[in-house]
Amino acid sequence: MNDIEYNLIEINEKIEEAAAKSQRNKDDITLVGVSKTIDILRIKEALVCGVTTLGENKVQEFLPKYEQLPTANWHFIGHLQTNKVKFLIGKVSLIHSVDNFKLAEQINKYSENLNIVTNILIEVNIAEEPTKNGVPVSQAFELVKNIANLQFVKLCGLMTVAPYVVNCENNRIYFKKMHNLFIDIQDKNVNNIDMKFLSMGMTNDYTVAIEEGANIVRIGTGIFGTRNYDNLT
Ligand SMILES: *Cc1c(COP(=O)(O)O)cnc(C)c1O
Repeated sequence: MNDIEYNLIEINEKIEEAAAKSQRNKDDITLVGVSKTIDILRIKEALVCGVTTLGENKVQEFLPKYEQLPTANWHFIGHLQTNKVKFLIGKVSLIHSVDNFKLAEQINKYSENLNIVTNILIEVNIAEEPTKNGVPVSQAFELVKNIANLQFVKLCGLMTVAPYVVNCENNRIYFKKMHNLFIDIQDKNVNNIDMKFLSMGMTNDYTVAIEEGANIVRIGTGIFGTRNYDNLT
Protein backbone atom coordinates (compact mmCIF):
# COMPACT_ATOMS: atom_id res chain seq x y z
CA MET A 1 0.00 0.00 0.00
CA ASN A 2 1.38 3.45 -0.83
CA ASP A 3 1.24 6.46 1.47
CA ILE A 4 -1.66 8.11 -0.33
CA GLU A 5 -3.79 4.98 -0.15
CA TYR A 6 -2.93 4.59 3.53
CA ASN A 7 -3.71 8.23 4.33
CA LEU A 8 -7.04 8.06 2.50
CA ILE A 9 -8.18 5.04 4.49
CA GLU A 10 -7.67 6.96 7.71
CA ILE A 11 -9.28 10.14 6.37
CA ASN A 12 -12.32 8.25 5.10
CA GLU A 13 -12.75 6.57 8.49
CA LYS A 14 -12.59 9.92 10.26
CA ILE A 15 -15.02 11.48 7.79
CA GLU A 16 -17.46 8.65 8.41
CA GLU A 17 -17.14 9.02 12.19
CA ALA A 18 -17.59 12.81 12.12
CA ALA A 19 -20.53 12.55 9.72
CA ALA A 20 -22.23 10.09 12.07
CA LYS A 21 -21.80 12.53 14.96
CA SER A 22 -23.82 15.05 12.97
CA GLN A 23 -26.43 12.48 11.87
CA ARG A 24 -25.11 12.21 8.37
CA ASN A 25 -23.63 9.61 6.09
CA LYS A 26 -20.08 9.63 4.74
CA ASP A 27 -21.56 9.87 1.23
CA ASP A 28 -22.98 13.29 2.14
CA ILE A 29 -19.44 14.63 2.49
CA THR A 30 -17.28 15.53 -0.51
CA LEU A 31 -13.54 15.23 -0.05
CA VAL A 32 -11.58 17.68 -2.19
CA GLY A 33 -8.00 16.51 -2.57
CA VAL A 34 -5.96 19.70 -2.48
CA SER A 35 -3.23 19.08 -5.04
CA LYS A 36 -1.34 22.40 -4.95
CA THR A 37 2.45 21.83 -5.24
CA ILE A 38 1.80 18.12 -5.90
CA ASP A 39 3.11 16.68 -9.15
CA ILE A 40 0.89 15.03 -11.70
CA LEU A 41 2.03 11.47 -10.95
CA ARG A 42 1.06 11.79 -7.30
CA ILE A 43 -2.23 13.40 -8.31
CA LYS A 44 -2.96 10.45 -10.60
CA GLU A 45 -2.20 8.09 -7.71
CA ALA A 46 -4.77 9.90 -5.59
CA LEU A 47 -7.36 9.53 -8.35
CA VAL A 48 -6.61 5.81 -8.55
CA CYS A 49 -7.05 5.61 -4.75
CA GLY A 50 -10.55 7.04 -5.03
CA VAL A 51 -10.20 10.82 -4.75
CA THR A 52 -12.95 12.14 -7.00
CA THR A 53 -12.36 15.88 -6.80
CA LEU A 54 -9.17 17.94 -6.94
CA GLY A 55 -8.62 21.47 -5.62
CA GLU A 56 -6.08 24.00 -6.84
CA ASN A 57 -5.50 27.50 -5.53
CA LYS A 58 -3.43 29.19 -8.25
CA VAL A 59 -4.52 29.65 -11.85
CA GLN A 60 -1.00 29.39 -13.29
CA GLU A 61 -0.40 26.13 -11.45
CA PHE A 62 -3.83 24.73 -12.28
CA LEU A 63 -3.69 25.22 -16.06
CA PRO A 64 -0.81 22.83 -16.92
CA LYS A 65 -2.28 20.21 -14.57
CA TYR A 66 -5.65 20.64 -16.22
CA GLU A 67 -4.03 20.09 -19.64
CA GLN A 68 -2.77 16.75 -18.41
CA LEU A 69 -5.93 15.74 -16.58
CA PRO A 70 -8.78 17.51 -18.38
CA THR A 71 -11.40 14.95 -17.40
CA ALA A 72 -10.74 15.15 -13.65
CA ASN A 73 -13.26 17.04 -11.54
CA TRP A 74 -11.42 20.25 -10.61
CA HIS A 75 -12.42 22.85 -8.03
CA PHE A 76 -10.76 26.22 -7.69
CA ILE A 77 -10.22 27.07 -4.02
CA GLY A 78 -7.75 29.98 -3.96
CA HIS A 79 -7.89 33.73 -4.17
CA LEU A 80 -8.98 34.67 -7.67
CA GLN A 81 -8.15 37.89 -9.48
CA THR A 82 -10.73 39.15 -11.96
CA ASN A 83 -8.17 39.19 -14.79
CA LYS A 84 -7.57 35.45 -14.37
CA VAL A 85 -11.21 34.40 -14.50
CA LYS A 86 -11.20 33.88 -18.26
CA PHE A 87 -8.64 31.06 -17.94
CA LEU A 88 -10.79 29.06 -15.52
CA ILE A 89 -14.28 29.14 -16.90
CA GLY A 90 -15.40 25.83 -18.38
CA LYS A 91 -12.53 24.00 -16.71
CA VAL A 92 -13.61 23.87 -13.06
CA SER A 93 -16.89 22.55 -11.69
CA LEU A 94 -16.91 24.79 -8.61
CA ILE A 95 -15.17 28.03 -7.60
CA HIS A 96 -15.04 28.19 -3.78
CA SER A 97 -13.55 31.63 -3.38
CA VAL A 98 -15.88 34.38 -4.58
CA ASP A 99 -15.79 37.26 -2.13
CA ASN A 100 -16.83 40.31 -4.14
CA PHE A 101 -19.44 41.20 -6.73
CA LYS A 102 -16.99 42.34 -9.42
CA LEU A 103 -15.45 38.87 -9.42
CA ALA A 104 -18.89 37.26 -9.67
CA GLU A 105 -19.76 39.57 -12.58
CA GLN A 106 -16.58 38.59 -14.38
CA ILE A 107 -17.36 34.88 -13.86
CA ASN A 108 -20.85 35.59 -15.20
CA LYS A 109 -19.49 37.35 -18.29
CA TYR A 110 -17.10 34.59 -19.34
CA SER A 111 -19.67 31.91 -18.53
CA GLU A 112 -22.18 33.67 -20.77
CA ASN A 113 -19.58 33.69 -23.57
CA LEU A 114 -19.42 29.90 -23.34
CA ASN A 115 -23.16 29.68 -22.67
CA ILE A 116 -22.58 27.73 -19.46
CA VAL A 117 -23.54 28.29 -15.83
CA THR A 118 -20.61 28.30 -13.39
CA ASN A 119 -21.16 27.04 -9.84
CA ILE A 120 -19.65 29.17 -7.12
CA LEU A 121 -19.43 29.50 -3.34
CA ILE A 122 -19.08 32.71 -1.39
CA GLU A 123 -15.94 32.80 0.73
CA VAL A 124 -16.61 34.19 4.20
CA ASN A 125 -13.89 35.56 6.47
CA ILE A 126 -15.61 34.08 9.48
CA ALA A 127 -13.02 35.09 12.09
CA GLU A 128 -12.62 38.55 10.47
CA GLU A 129 -8.87 38.07 10.21
CA PRO A 130 -7.32 41.14 8.55
CA THR A 131 -4.94 39.09 6.39
CA LYS A 132 -7.60 36.74 5.04
CA ASN A 133 -9.78 36.90 1.96
CA GLY A 134 -13.50 36.50 2.23
CA VAL A 135 -16.49 38.70 2.84
CA PRO A 136 -17.32 39.58 6.45
CA VAL A 137 -20.51 38.02 7.83
CA SER A 138 -22.15 41.45 7.92
CA GLN A 139 -21.85 41.79 4.11
CA ALA A 140 -22.54 38.21 3.13
CA PHE A 141 -26.28 38.50 2.53
CA GLU A 142 -25.89 41.60 0.38
CA LEU A 143 -23.46 39.67 -1.83
CA VAL A 144 -25.85 36.70 -1.96
CA LYS A 145 -28.67 38.93 -3.22
CA ASN A 146 -26.50 40.56 -5.86
CA ILE A 147 -25.11 37.27 -7.13
CA ALA A 148 -28.63 35.81 -7.30
CA ASN A 149 -29.31 38.26 -10.16
CA LEU A 150 -26.57 36.83 -12.35
CA GLN A 151 -27.89 34.41 -14.94
CA PHE A 152 -24.72 32.49 -15.72
CA VAL A 153 -23.54 32.02 -12.14
CA LYS A 154 -25.13 29.62 -9.69
CA LEU A 155 -24.52 30.29 -6.02
CA CYS A 156 -24.29 26.86 -4.37
CA GLY A 157 -23.15 27.67 -0.83
CA LEU A 158 -20.44 29.07 1.41
CA MET A 159 -16.76 28.43 2.03
CA THR A 160 -14.34 29.50 4.73
CA VAL A 161 -10.69 29.12 5.62
CA ALA A 162 -10.72 29.00 9.42
CA PRO A 163 -7.83 30.43 11.46
CA TYR A 164 -4.64 28.47 11.78
CA VAL A 165 -4.84 26.77 15.17
CA VAL A 166 -2.91 24.02 16.91
CA ASN A 167 -5.99 22.67 18.66
CA CYS A 168 -8.81 22.18 16.14
CA GLU A 169 -11.41 22.60 18.91
CA ASN A 170 -10.57 26.30 18.86
CA ASN A 171 -12.20 26.55 15.43
CA ARG A 172 -15.47 24.96 16.48
CA ILE A 173 -17.05 28.34 17.24
CA TYR A 174 -16.19 29.56 13.73
CA PHE A 175 -17.60 26.45 12.10
CA LYS A 176 -20.78 26.88 14.16
CA LYS A 177 -21.00 30.50 13.03
CA MET A 178 -20.60 29.45 9.41
CA HIS A 179 -23.31 26.84 9.76
CA ASN A 180 -25.65 29.40 11.30
CA LEU A 181 -25.02 31.83 8.44
CA PHE A 182 -25.59 29.02 5.94
CA ILE A 183 -28.95 28.15 7.52
CA ASP A 184 -29.96 31.82 7.77
CA ILE A 185 -29.36 32.29 4.05
CA GLN A 186 -31.20 29.05 3.21
CA ASP A 187 -34.17 30.24 5.25
CA LYS A 188 -34.42 33.45 3.24
CA ASN A 189 -35.43 31.45 0.15
CA VAL A 190 -33.65 33.67 -2.36
CA ASN A 191 -34.54 32.80 -5.96
CA ASN A 192 -31.89 31.40 -8.31
CA ILE A 193 -29.57 30.17 -5.58
CA ASP A 194 -29.10 26.67 -4.23
CA MET A 195 -27.50 26.81 -0.78
CA LYS A 196 -26.38 23.21 -0.55
CA PHE A 197 -22.62 23.24 0.02
CA LEU A 198 -20.74 24.27 3.12
CA SER A 199 -17.02 24.01 2.35
CA MET A 200 -14.94 24.15 5.52
CA GLY A 201 -12.28 22.10 7.23
CA MET A 202 -8.71 21.28 6.19
CA THR A 203 -6.18 18.70 7.36
CA ASN A 204 -5.98 20.12 10.88
CA ASP A 205 -9.64 20.61 11.59
CA TYR A 206 -11.87 18.74 9.12
CA THR A 207 -13.41 16.42 11.70
CA VAL A 208 -14.64 19.37 13.79
CA ALA A 209 -15.87 21.11 10.62
CA ILE A 210 -17.92 18.05 9.62
CA GLU A 211 -19.34 17.72 13.13
CA GLU A 212 -20.53 21.32 12.74
CA GLY A 213 -22.12 20.78 9.34
CA ALA A 214 -19.47 20.93 6.60
CA ASN A 215 -20.31 18.83 3.55
CA ILE A 216 -17.17 19.69 1.58
CA VAL A 217 -13.73 19.36 3.20
CA ARG A 218 -10.50 20.42 1.49
CA ILE A 219 -7.55 18.25 2.46
CA GLY A 220 -4.02 18.51 1.10
CA THR A 221 -1.32 17.60 3.63
CA GLY A 222 -3.44 14.82 5.11
CA ILE A 223 -3.52 13.03 1.75
CA PHE A 224 -0.20 13.92 0.12
CA GLY A 225 2.04 14.72 3.09
CA THR A 226 3.91 17.95 3.79
CA ARG A 227 4.03 20.29 0.82
CA ASN A 228 7.33 21.20 -0.81
CA TYR A 229 6.95 24.63 -2.37
CA ASP A 230 10.26 24.15 -4.27
CA ASN A 231 8.31 21.88 -6.62
CA LEU A 232 6.71 24.97 -8.09
CA THR A 233 8.09 26.36 -11.28
C1 LIG B 1 -3.94 24.55 0.92
C2 LIG B 1 -5.40 24.71 1.12
C3 LIG B 1 -6.16 23.71 1.75
C4 LIG B 1 -5.57 22.42 2.28
O1 LIG B 1 -4.72 22.63 3.36
P1 LIG B 1 -4.13 21.40 4.21
O2 LIG B 1 -3.87 21.97 5.53
O3 LIG B 1 -2.89 20.97 3.49
O4 LIG B 1 -5.14 20.33 4.21
C5 LIG B 1 -7.52 23.91 1.89
N1 LIG B 1 -8.12 25.03 1.44
C6 LIG B 1 -7.43 26.01 0.84
C7 LIG B 1 -8.17 27.22 0.37
C8 LIG B 1 -6.07 25.88 0.65
O5 LIG B 1 -5.39 26.87 0.04
